[in-house]
Amino acid sequence: MLTPVTDAAGAPFWEYAARGELRVQACGDCGEPRFPPRPCCPHCQSFAAKWRPVSGQGRVWSYVVPHPPLLPEYAAQAPYNVVVVELADAPRIRLVGNVVSRAGAPLGSVDPGRLRIGARVHVVFGDGGLPQWVLA
Ligand SMILES: [Zn+2]
Repeated sequence: MLTPVTDAAGAPFWEYAARGELRVQACGDCGEPRFPPRPCCPHCQSFAAKWRPVSGQGRVWSYVVPHPPLLPEYAAQAPYNVVVVELADAPRIRLVGNVVSRAGAPLGSVDPGRLRIGARVHVVFGDGGLPQWVLA
């Protein structure tokens, strides 16, 4: 498994995720959520930020099923999916991840044929607090 590489702006995302909480960075002045995390609000240029809890409900906005050539560890898990999930309560925020059968399940645990654009998903947290998605 690849482990997250964090930076100062994104570290809180992973700290909350390790506790089983999905939060997105939002502007401390205008309140607009933003992703990926960064120091400055693109809407009002404020440097104030807070971390807003979200429901973890979303929809598959897009997805791919990677094909070889793949890195060896991923080739062993193929076929698997990579999804872009649009959050229900922050529709402009889209997170990249994988749909799995349950928290901590392998990447290839869901038949890619079950995925559809618009499918409802909700977040679960796998090993090390990695956010993953399961079909609703
Ligand atoms: Zn702002």
